[in-house]
Amino acid sequence: MSELLTADRIDEIGNLGSKSPDPAALVAELVGAVDEGRVADPDDIGFALLVAADILEQAGDLADALTLATRAVAEQPDDNAYARGVRGGLLLRLGRTDEGMAELTALRPLLETNPKSMYLIDELVESGHGDTAMEWLTGALDAILERTRTQQHESEDAQDEAAAMIYGLAQQRHDLREEQGLPHDEYDNLADRLRAASDHALGALDDGPATLLFWPQAEFTALLLRWPALADSYPATWDEHRAQIERALVEASGLGGADLGVVVGTAAGLAAFAEPTGSDPTSEETLDEYADSLDEAGVTAWPPGRNDTCWCGSGAKYKKCCLPRSRD
Ligand SMILES: [Zn+2]
Ligand SMILES: [Zn+2]
Repeated sequence: MSELLTADRIDEIGNLGSKSPDPAALVAELVGAVDEGRVADPDDIGFALLVAADILEQAGDLADALTLATRAVAEQPDDNAYARGVRGGLLLRLGRTDEGMAELTALRPLLETNPKSMYLIDELVESGHGDTAMEWLTGALDAILERTRTQQHESEDAQDEAAAMIYGLAQQRHDLREEQGLPHDEYDNLADRLRAASDHALGALDDGPATLLFWPQAEFTALLLRWPALADSYPATWDEHRAQIERALVEASGLGGADLGVVVGTAAGLAAFAEPTGSDPTSEETLDEYADSLDEAGVTAWPPGRNDTCWCGSGAKYKKCCLPRSRD
């Protein structure tokens, strides 16, 4: 064989992987092309070796997989973070814990800057180091949130980047904790709000404005008196409720959401909405559908001008009311 190994063919082999009746032949095809200088794009050499390493690992041959991953690291010294991550994971799974941890720890700062660095977490989890993975996710979230709090003058690009990182880290952490059967903590609630805000923001591309369901103070009280089960879905106080909405909107705008706003719910309105269909007014689904039904009646656009009346209905100026709430 003297033909060139293209990126498409490497992809194809990657998809076949160990499901192929002859995984060894696929490994030989990849490594042969690298050995003989037949990789069509030299930038794909590391990729070819890592695909081969993955097939070997799935076949249970961790030692040879490590050899190929090590070679991938050496082949492309300027762009080898992913290869080092794979190598680190393999070392861990081979029981060479100190070496593996050293390799991954050197890459740990990427979790604060590179949205594609979540493979580090996967490597840790797959190697039975879920606790370390959690610690790194929490640490990265702490660091980025601290940075966004203290550096008010970051460029818009830097802010978008931070928002994207926060989103990815919070989702990964949320799902990992859920797998471990852990209850929601503050960052998990953030993850849920961000996901909802992002769904809304994405939906807004064809559905009109992205809106969140907001309960004015009296309605918030009436709601929880009437359906105590909703205490699980909402914070303990109305102040926290409007702060959550403000933060979700700030985050949605950071993710590029446009046409943001709130729709105003009422306890009587929710009851009337749920009754005819017999749906449970306390279910997430009913609340979403109720919010959608209010969309048509009118959306309070967000954000208001700094000196305009706040969206929450307090009567105070936005800059003195909910604007500062997003920062605590
Ligand atoms: Zn959740
Ligand atoms: Zn307000």
